[in-house]
Amino acid sequence: MSRHIFKYNNFNNYNSIISQLINHNIKHNNYTKLYSIGNIKSTQQKFKHQNYDINVLQINKTFPNKEKNNILIIGGTHSREITSVNIVMKLIDELLNNDKYEKILKTNNIYLLPLLNPNGYVIDNAQFKNIPGCQYRKNGENFIDIKTNYGTDLNRNSGIVNNFIHPLYSSSVDDIRKKIDQLYLKNEIDFDFYNYIKSYPDNLLIRDIEYCKKFSTWNFNSNSHISSDMFCGFSQNSAPEIKYFQQFFLKNSFDLVLSHHSNGNIILNPMSYNIINSKVKLFPFFNSDKKRYTNYVNKVIISNNVYKYDYDRNLLGYDVFGSMNEWCHLANLSQNLSQNMAKNLAKKKNFYTFTLETGIEHSTYYLDEKELNNAVKNGVNLSIDFINKYESS
Ligand SMILES: [Zn+2]
Repeated sequence: MSRHIFKYNNFNNYNSIISQLINHNIKHNNYTKLYSIGNIKSTQQKFKHQNYDINVLQINKTFPNKEKNNILIIGGTHSREITSVNIVMKLIDELLNNDKYEKILKTNNIYLLPLLNPNGYVIDNAQFKNIPGCQYRKNGENFIDIKTNYGTDLNRNSGIVNNFIHPLYSSSVDDIRKKIDQLYLKNEIDFDFYNYIKSYPDNLLIRDIEYCKKFSTWNFNSNSHISSDMFCGFSQNSAPEIKYFQQFFLKNSFDLVLSHHSNGNIILNPMSYNIINSKVKLFPFFNSDKKRYTNYVNKVIISNNVYKYDYDRNLLGYDVFGSMNEWCHLANLSQNLSQNMAKNLAKKKNFYTFTLETGIEHSTYYLDEKELNNAVKNGVNLSIDFINKYESS
C-alpha cells in the first residue's frame, strides 16, 4: 500500500483520511480511540463492493478527579465542502501534537468526526477529478450519475419531531392546559411563552400542537425536488448517515457539538425555526436559550473577528430545515424533559450546538491552496475558541 500523506491545503482522498487517522491513533494510543459509528455502502459503479466507515477519533486524556466536558466536532456533512474535512483533520493534528493545547485536553474529552458523508465525498472526487471538492453536495443514496442523483442533503434530513416529543403534546385540550401550568410552575417555560400559549383558543392550541407533532421539513420549497441539491430525503432521518449519527449522539452525553461547513464565515444558531414560524413554538425555552447561546458566542467573537453570528435566514438568505444542530438542540431538550429532572440537569442545561461555516461567501467550494490554508486556520481557531470559552462559561 502506498503511503498517503495528508495535505491540509489541498484535497485528500478517502484513503488518505483513513491512514492519517490510523497513524494518529497508533502514535497516541494511550489516550486516543479510533472507531466507526457506521458503515456506508458505496454507490459508485466502480467501487460497488467497497464500504466506507464514518470514523470518530476520540481524545481522552485521563486526569483524576476532573469533571470533563464532552465535545463533538464534525466535518464533511456536504461532500464538496472539503474545507470542513481539513479543518477537523487539522484540529486533530494540533490537539495531539501541539503542547499548547495540553490544557484543553485536561478539561475536555474531544470526539472528532472529520467525514460524516464518505460515500458522497468519494462521488465528488470521482465525478470531478480535476476539481475535487467542487460540485457534489448530498449523500450517495440512489446515485446513478451526476444528472440523475436522488441523494439526500444530510443537513435537511434530521426529523426534528419524530425523535422529539413536544412537552405539551396531549390528545386533550384540558391536559395541554394542565401541562402548561405545571411546566410554568416548575420554571421550565418562561413567562412570555406561558402567556402566549395560555392565550390560545382551544382549537388553535390543538392545531398547533398537532402541527408540531407532524411537522416535517419536506413541506418546504427548497427541499421538495428529489434531484435538488437540498433534497431533504424521502422521510425524516432516512439517510443512513443521519441514523448512525443520531444513535451516536444519543449514546453519549455531549456538552458542545460543532458542525463545520464551508460557505462564508458564519456561526449559525440552531433555533431559527422559531423566528421563521413564531406561532409554532417548537422550542419551549426559546428566549432563555437564545440569550444563553448569544452570550456564549459573543465571548467567542471577541477574540475572533472573522465570523458573524445570526440565524440562517439572515446570514444565508434562506431557511435551513431539518438541520443536524437543530435536531441536537431538541434532542437534548427532550431528554431534559422526559427524564428525571434532577439527573444530569446542570450539565445538560449548558448544552450548545452550532453550525460553523468557513470559506468564501457564495463562491464555488473549490479554494486554492492559499485560500484553503487560510480557511483551515480560521476554522481551527474558531473551534479552539469555542472549546476555551465553554470551559470558562
Ligand atoms: Zn454545508
